[in-house]
Amino acid sequence: MTSKPNILIVYTGGTIGMVKDYKTNALRAFDFSRIIDKIPELAQLDCNIESISFKEPIDSSNMNVRYYVDILEIIETNYRKFDGFVVLTGSDTMAYTSSAISFMIENLQKPIIFTGSQLPIGDLRTDAKENLITSIEIAASQKGNAPIVSEVCLYFEYKLYRANRTTKISAEQFEAFASKNYPALAESGVHLNFNGHLLTKPTFSDKKLIIRKKLITDVVILKLFPGITAEVIEAILSIRNLKGVVLETYGAGNAPNKPWFLELVEKAIQSGIKVVNVTQCSGGSVILGHYDTSLGLKAIGVIGGIDITTESAIAKLMYLLNEDLDAATFKRYFQRSLRGEISEK
Ligand code: ASP
Repeated sequence: MTSKPNILIVYTGGTIGMVKDYKTNALRAFDFSRIIDKIPELAQLDCNIESISFKEPIDSSNMNVRYYVDILEIIETNYRKFDGFVVLTGSDTMAYTSSAISFMIENLQKPIIFTGSQLPIGDLRTDAKENLITSIEIAASQKGNAPIVSEVCLYFEYKLYRANRTTKISAEQFEAFASKNYPALAESGVHLNFNGHLLTKPTFSDKKLIIRKKLITDVVILKLFPGITAEVIEAILSIRNLKGVVLETYGAGNAPNKPWFLELVEKAIQSGIKVVNVTQCSGGSVILGHYDTSLGLKAIGVIGGIDITTESAIAKLMYLLNEDLDAATFKRYFQRSLRGEISEK
């Protein structure tokens, strides 16, 4: 019997799993079951590695809720057998996917590390090897017999982040992600240093893993800009079956305080649509009522999203809308930290 941790790599697609065909110069997906052949260094890690690949790997631009469930079902089926999971997706929508997965799993006691790369694994200058190797190391890191990390994270370019705090910030640099409102959980340099005090405390081991597979997709992200018209806002807020809106506002949660705007948003809220206010800024917090231009939003029942990211807000909205909560309870849950995604007031 081996006591090495067992790690499962779940490959869904994205650049990381591609190699260059040197004859044609084109990128193509490679057979992920032969990952150890591509990265022989993996054999040196002090853990057992297995991998499962989507039958048809996807570009993460095609990610959707059905694929979230596919990822969850792979983890659910293999939860007992493995000590940690590394999920590979394209980086484009990784912040959305990993945020959603964090809400859909409750009482998680093992690490789920999302990673990917800007360059394919077969490229000479690739960032894929470091991202993958360190993600596996993190997933396999234990203290005593317990995993060091027991939450959903995203690892990229030497930093481990809480997944639901991340945003993709660059389509060019290896440092493709940022987490402006919560510090990195670990940094990889000469040593792999965990910031233990920032990690989610593990839940008691007798708590059963709960996986929720239903999200409500009748939602929209409405980004304000100077010049946006009443027609546009009215059209969006009258989408049939619309249940939730992430309203991307300016600065500390500010929006036009003109009657036409407030009346349209109020009408939506009165009809039962949940409206959450998230700032367009990459860092900082919504403080409703701090400026005159957010007092009106507060008065009509817009929910302040505090310092949650848009990616996490849309996932949390889709998750909570399925719970059928009354307006006050919905607001309370939205503003409460469920998976470390928001700094409670
Ligand atoms: N377009 C790719 C994707 O998100 C980019 C990447 O893999 O990082 O699937």
